[in-house]
Amino acid sequence: MPTRFIFVTGGVVSSLGKGLAAAALGSLLQAQGYKVRLRKLDPYLNVDPGTMSPTQHGEVFVTDDGAETDLDLGHYERFTGVHARQSDNVTTGRIYSTVIAKERRGDYLGATVQVIPHVTDAIKEFVLADLTDEDFCICEIGGTVGDIEGLPFLEAIRQLGNELGKERSLFIHLTLLPYIKTAGELKTKPTQHSVKELLSVGIQPDILLCRTDREIPANERRKIGLFCNIPQDRVIAAQDVDTIYRVPINYHEQGFDREVLRYFGLDCSKEPSLCKWEDIVKRVLEPEGEVTIAIAGKYTSLLDSYKSLHEALLHGGIANNVRVNLKWIDSEVFEREDVVQYLDGVHGILVPGGFGERGTEGKIKAAQFAREHNIPYFGICFGMQLAVIEAVRHLGGIPDATSSEFGPSDHAIVGLLTEWLKGDQLEKRQSGGNLGGTMRLGAYPCVLQKGTKVQEIYGADQIQERHRHRYEVNLNYKEAFDKAGLVFAGMSPDGVLPEIVERKDHPWFIGVQFHPELRSKPFDPHPLFRSFIEAAKKQSVLV
Ligand code: GLN
Repeated sequence: MPTRFIFVTGGVVSSLGKGLAAAALGSLLQAQGYKVRLRKLDPYLNVDPGTMSPTQHGEVFVTDDGAETDLDLGHYERFTGVHARQSDNVTTGRIYSTVIAKERRGDYLGATVQVIPHVTDAIKEFVLADLTDEDFCICEIGGTVGDIEGLPFLEAIRQLGNELGKERSLFIHLTLLPYIKTAGELKTKPTQHSVKELLSVGIQPDILLCRTDREIPANERRKIGLFCNIPQDRVIAAQDVDTIYRVPINYHEQGFDREVLRYFGLDCSKEPSLCKWEDIVKRVLEPEGEVTIAIAGKYTSLLDSYKSLHEALLHGGIANNVRVNLKWIDSEVFEREDVVQYLDGVHGILVPGGFGERGTEGKIKAAQFAREHNIPYFGICFGMQLAVIEAVRHLGGIPDATSSEFGPSDHAIVGLLTEWLKGDQLEKRQSGGNLGGTMRLGAYPCVLQKGTKVQEIYGADQIQERHRHRYEVNLNYKEAFDKAGLVFAGMSPDGVLPEIVERKDHPWFIGVQFHPELRSKPFDPHPLFRSFIEAAKKQSVLV
């Protein structure tokens, strides 16, 4: 069957969970036996989110093929298991750079280059590109209907709706039904206005997904259907849930997947198996124990900045049947106050990825505390680099060991590498270049040393993990590393890039140069997170 396109827009307010809604619908269509792909169209002017502050925009999700993308792609992967690609996220910035590059090359043959048709054509090309045998392509439009930036995207999907016809396109609109306490009612007016706004750009939604904190009474459902030209069965309640992994189950109970299939004239009589989700929900809500993990980071003011990490830790809990309590700590406090009051009694310490010098001395103290007190330590990317610096400073005989990320130094044991191999290809990076797109990005193979803890955890000799960093541990300091008790248990296949470090004299001390959290799924928890939480569980018995 030719690919059908489902466009998801949002109205009334932002943060209603459009990404989750798209992801959950994807997983339901999979459960019905279909092949899905999910895409995100972001109306901002950045070419990609790579240069945006995590505290503003949330985490940057990196794909296997090295794209820096919106965090919603993380939801898509976690719910469907389908690995996203560069071609699954586009921004206004990227669209405009393509159009302007074409214009400079003279590709438009003297035409006046305009939003319609040139920008909208470029958006349509993106939506339709790089698809093969997918049954459904779900495209989420970022932002809220009514935003000026979103207009070219809405215009492009309106045109696509006409070109593909009803049999291949469907518009879903996510809105909010606020409950007004004093009136004792769910209010439908914001939804009506939002649909009007969509209609004003020529899009009639086919299905409405309404976020509510309670059931939608029959009268309100009738009203919404009447004012928004939508059969009542296609007004779907998206009720608040206790865990996001219940969303597919809830949607199914509300008939969401049934209505999507019915719209396309597909068989909707089969009951899909959702036991995978039921099992996950049960494990999340009825754990048999709990552990507390301290996360010493820098972007702790916005939880979305560590979205995948948060989820991966939860997945580790799912695998071990424990609740994982997260204690987020801004590492800068360790530079002013004693770490003991914050870290004493926690069952695991994690230092996540990060950039820049601020807060690093605090993270180093956290790594030292974990090492000296035998507390499970998981260092991710920056967390690995800083753990190496800590050990070399205190055990390796180089008290001023540092990273060249913090400025010139005599002992940059973590430094900028300007050339490395990806397969047979030589990759290069400029030391003084632009900040955008200058990192080692995407999936790289890593060879695991026999007899090490990580080899046992992965149960493999070679793995692939995703990277996003500029600096690397410098192997020229091998002597100091040996002295500090650091074992490089994972290396790039050419033996040049240290990818994993562990300690033999510690129950669980692992640092990884990559981001394992990006590959963890609720139904397939990442082995390192599974093992880290298992170690924390053991620790919880000790303390
Ligand atoms: N700042 C470090 C680097 O660029 C680590 C990056 C990260 O943690 N993602 O190498």
